[in-house]
Amino acid sequence: MMKERILLVEDNKALSKLVKRKMEDSLNFDVIQSYSFEETNNILEENDDFFIALLDLNLPDAPDGEVVDLVLSYNIPSIVLTGSIDKQIREEMLGKGIIDYVYKGNIEDVNYIFSLIQRLSKNRDIKLMIVDDSQMIRKQIKETLQKHMFKVLVAAHGEEALNYLEDNTDVKLVLTDYNMPVINGLELTREIREKYNKQQLAIISLTGSNEHLISAKFLKSGANDFINKPFSNEELICRINNTLEAQEQVELLSKFANHDFLTGLYNRRYFFDHINDFLHNNNQYAIAMLDIDHFKNINDTYGHDAGDMVLKHLSAILKNNTKGSDIVARFGGEEFCIALANVDEKTAIGFFIKLKNIISKERVMFKNSSIKYTVSIGITTKDKKENIEQLIQEADKALYKAKENGRDKIEIY
Ligand code: GH3
Ligand code: MG
Ligand code: MG
Repeated sequence: MMKERILLVEDNKALSKLVKRKMEDSLNFDVIQSYSFEETNNILEENDDFFIALLDLNLPDAPDGEVVDLVLSYNIPSIVLTGSIDKQIREEMLGKGIIDYVYKGNIEDVNYIFSLIQRLSKNRDIKLMIVDDSQMIRKQIKETLQKHMFKVLVAAHGEEALNYLEDNTDVKLVLTDYNMPVINGLELTREIREKYNKQQLAIISLTGSNEHLISAKFLKSGANDFINKPFSNEELICRINNTLEAQEQVELLSKFANHDFLTGLYNRRYFFDHINDFLHNNNQYAIAMLDIDHFKNINDTYGHDAGDMVLKHLSAILKNNTKGSDIVARFGGEEFCIALANVDEKTAIGFFIKLKNIISKERVMFKNSSIKYTVSIGITTKDKKENIEQLIQEADKALYKAKENGRDKIEIY
């Protein structure tokens, strides 16, 4: 697939080179450089498919920001780079509909541009909802959010918002006014919190300057943050970004807490957090312990990195051959636990025989070696009266027997 492109118009070649290199290293974009108005014109006539443009206001053949009008006429979202802090020019540029106005004074400013582009690129997949009874405010906020590439829904009051949420479970953040007919913002916040926590669906309240006490009420009712009216578009965007970043951080942490770092499979902790629901929801199931045979030899012969590759290779096979309703977890080292949903003993045995055959036919390519490996599997299948400790003990005993019987074997408890 072709990478998305960023247009960088900047006549300072050293700066342009620095930005391009940093951007291509840390972001997955192609940066197309232009050093003048004329060159920009030629580039756009050829191909105007750009994710975003970074525009210098002061070019040798266009000293007064002419390039901004040119690029905006192609409907390319633009960020202005400038060395001047002239307030009037800034207002004039923001008025044209650019996304942001950035001083290119030092490396921190360049870093800001990166985080902005990264943010905008993520925003394209994020749906926000505005809830306000004022059509003017709805329109103003919607324009700002769309400029920052968010997907936007608008509702005129709380009840409408609740209806939209039923059909749009992918909304990540709600911006809500306080005073609205039917259901006000506070009631809306409480209703949303009955169903979604702060992590799943963020809420930012918009409260008037004479409603300071309401802001605290919003926070106590479960709002993530509040903004006092009147607010600038910049403040609005910064508050939204902060809230989304906090959401993303927690998402990342919970991913690390539940997954094994090397293989990406669930870890032991996730397994034990979810196995009781699994046992409860399935009338039939099989629990299996799987262990790589003579794995120590693989490490000793080919090195630890090769061992890691074998672990990843096996994990992919386990993942590809199970369903979302099954649980596959790496318990530690080269030992895995598989909970198969809705299978009787015969089906389970058939499944593991097939799995073992797939594994023994595969080869892991590492440097110039082709590594083969086998696994031993111990299975137990019981009804739901059993507890998980007992099931795992049984599967472990069967695994031990498979090892004793010469490895590359399957045993049933
Ligand atoms: P058996 O057939 O009886 O299971 O023998 P084995 O060699 O597979 O088992 P043993 O328990 O003797 O050795 C397991 C080895 O796995 C020892 C340990 O260094 C290695 N190991 C554990 N975790 C990792 C890992 O994350 N990466 C790599 N490369 N090796 C690991
Ligand atoms: Mg310049
Ligand atoms: Mg082993």
